[in-house]
Amino acid sequence: MQKYDYLIVGAGLFGAVAAHRLKLAGKRSLVIDKRKQVGGNLFCENIAGINVHKYGAHIFHTSNAKIWQFVNSLVDFNRYTNSPVANYHGRLFNLPFNMNTFYQMWGVRTPEEAQLKINEQREIALAKMKADGVTEARNLEEQAQLLIGKDIYEALIKGYTEKQWGRKCHELPAFIINRLPVRFVFDNNYFNDKYQGIPIGGYNPLISKLLQDVDIITDTDFFDNREKWESQADKIIFTGSIDRFYDYCFGHLEYRTLRFETEKIEKSNYQGCAVVNYTDSETPYTRIIEHKHFESFGDEAEKIQQTIITKEYSSEWKEGCEPFYPVNDAKNSALYQQYLTLSKKESCVIFGGRLAEYKYYDMDKIIERAESFQI
Ligand code: FAD
Ligand code: UDP
Repeated sequence: MQKYDYLIVGAGLFGAVAAHRLKLAGKRSLVIDKRKQVGGNLFCENIAGINVHKYGAHIFHTSNAKIWQFVNSLVDFNRYTNSPVANYHGRLFNLPFNMNTFYQMWGVRTPEEAQLKINEQREIALAKMKADGVTEARNLEEQAQLLIGKDIYEALIKGYTEKQWGRKCHELPAFIINRLPVRFVFDNNYFNDKYQGIPIGGYNPLISKLLQDVDIITDTDFFDNREKWESQADKIIFTGSIDRFYDYCFGHLEYRTLRFETEKIEKSNYQGCAVVNYTDSETPYTRIIEHKHFESFGDEAEKIQQTIITKEYSSEWKEGCEPFYPVNDAKNSALYQQYLTLSKKESCVIFGGRLAEYKYYDMDKIIERAESFQI
């Protein structure tokens, strides 16, 4: 008899929620992760008393009351509301696109004036498309201009998106931009979700709670000794890259990777908010994160005399880098379908999470999925 019912490859959010669920169901699991620590991309490192989001800024947001209750039953959340600022050649704009942004861009003061301005620009974009014989956006460039017009597209979308994805906006799928809200009220909340916050003390306590009383081995790559790990349990929950699982038999799926440049600054407050996006094409990084603002509000930030900032650079993934964002274009989607077909034939392996499903999932969606596979 094997020692474990489940081997879970990956101690990220999917693996941790799966382990928690299996524990409650009376199953024995072993979790392995190739990184030195658990938590996957949610991992935080405490530097100078500040929780630094080591693998990119993470804000928990959801409209699913059950998921919100679930995470709050494990840890307490603070009242952080994401309200990033965009810096375009030194001019500052509020995000997402709302009345503050429209005032800063055009000086318009009422929703009616803003709508008129945007409609004018939408009409021009639509007329151009009609001249080409289409009425539906064929790519992100067209979609963005239908959504918000040329001025905002050029100042706040084009440069940022092309840096982030390493592709021209006219080569990118339209849906990427649909995630961003457009509102005719003065509201800088980046998300439309009902619930939002960050665990007090960062994400590590949440992961520790989920993995409490579960056997864990870190610093261990499943593929370094695949046979050994496969023999440990009846079933496998695999949250690593699906193309690697099948030895890249159809070819490599493409990802975007990120490089984080973190520095300590001898100032109590560097940029006045957690996230500033650099939306021009010349600045080499996409954004600067100032981590203390995720957890201290108002004048609280001033109490710690130092601050930690991270500049985020985006580039094409290559061997040895962390895969962060799947590139869901036509070519990669078709390749993924081939791997998906193979994976559906597995009776003892469950593929879950952003790498195994080759899909960008927010954290709440990851929890929903990890709560729903058949045990
Ligand atoms: P991961 O966190 O990547 O975990 C997978 C784990 O598997 C990793 O620890 C990895 O080391 C391990 N692993 C992989 N291969 C192997 C192997 N061969 N052997 C052993 N271990 C292996 N979501 C939000 O809701 N809000 C946000 O603000 C937000 N911001 C984000 C910012 C960035 C920059 C990124 C990239 C994502 C963001 N997300 C956000 C999404 C969030 O990170 C994911 O929903 C979540 O991390 C997915 O969890 P996961 O377990 O699928 O993947
Ligand atoms: N985006 C943009 N300008 C910004 C912020 C976002 O053009 O200042 C675009 C960009 O294409 C990005 C998409 O909106 O890929 C979704 O943004 P979101 O913040 O959801 O993505 P994240 O960077 O957090 O993954």
